[in-house]
Amino acid sequence: MFDAETLPFGVFTALDRPGVRRVGVAVEDRVLDLSQARIPHPALFAYGSLDPFLVSGPEVWDRVRSALLEGAGGPYLPMSEVTMCLPFTVADYVDFYASEYHAANLGRLFRPGGDPLTHNWRYQPLAYHGRAGTVVVSGTAIVRPSGPHLIEGGSEPVFGPSERLDLEAELGFVVGVPSALGTPVPTGAFADHVFGICLVNDWSARDLQAWEYLPLGPFLGKSFATSVSPWVVPLAALGDARVPVPSGSGNLAPYLREDAPWGLDITLEVRLNGEPISRPPYRSTHWSPAQMVAHLTANGAALRPGDLIASGTVSGPGGEEVGSLIELTHGGERPVVLPGGVTRTWIEDYDEVAISASLAGGRYLGEVSGRVLPAVV
Ligand code: MN
Repeated sequence: MFDAETLPFGVFTALDRPGVRRVGVAVEDRVLDLSQARIPHPALFAYGSLDPFLVSGPEVWDRVRSALLEGAGGPYLPMSEVTMCLPFTVADYVDFYASEYHAANLGRLFRPGGDPLTHNWRYQPLAYHGRAGTVVVSGTAIVRPSGPHLIEGGSEPVFGPSERLDLEAELGFVVGVPSALGTPVPTGAFADHVFGICLVNDWSARDLQAWEYLPLGPFLGKSFATSVSPWVVPLAALGDARVPVPSGSGNLAPYLREDAPWGLDITLEVRLNGEPISRPPYRSTHWSPAQMVAHLTANGAALRPGDLIASGTVSGPGGEEVGSLIELTHGGERPVVLPGGVTRTWIEDYDEVAISASLAGGRYLGEVSGRVLPAVV
């Protein structure tokens, strides 16, 4: 349950106005209906989407949050009576590879005996462009993807359902204010553009990914679906959670330098069919959110309202701090044992994956979940 100060924004429907999307703010076990609340800038909340509010910028964000903290009046609905929707129109979706532990774990699996990190990794945050149109809200069922892949021992690809379906526990940064084409966004301007955070499950079909990823990167192995949490937590609610990032001491290119590079002391929890299997610590992530945005725009690429910029899989140094099954099972060699003796190497049909997050003091920051359905073909 969210506390009374986090005040995340989302979009919901409820049976008192069936099918009508409304913007709301979560306050403990209730949702304040912003389409009818007495708050500044009410017109921004009249469209059933966070889009107009996101683009309105930091001054408006602060004014609305201040009013909410003072206890804005308006109708509340019980959280149990609302159905959550995708909160904003996802413009572009970019997924980074910012965790050194994750990158090194995968490097050891894919390039055994070599340097766990590729030569470019320490110089800049690496990323790929994902598919914005298949970002779905938490609770959406995920159909097992099919595609070409190698069967173990085979040398020619077969087409069929993925047999190595995985999850990736990530943090997402939601852009509100656009930037101009041709004008990079410096690290110091991060908060002028980014509104808040959500949780991301970057579902990954490892067998499809392994066959297709050279030389252009992930495609069918990732693009079938990406799940996000319905509540977007404003950065303004996370000031106390800021911590220095490991990259701060490096000899970085000027565009990646930051006065006081910060990450967030957020711990994720991954549950498979309700059983906790991992607790990835975001604070151990090498590259900071501001460095990711600076890198994304370093060539002049513009930010758009609704851009979703994900951290990449969050993994810490501990064996039970990794954010994917491929790491937890050491490439599929050591199945995870769940209570009752059930084992999992990869995600099976009808499994449910949930990723939640909290601050060091226990403050809840939301959840993204999804259940996998059998492949269609
Ligand atoms: Mn990812």
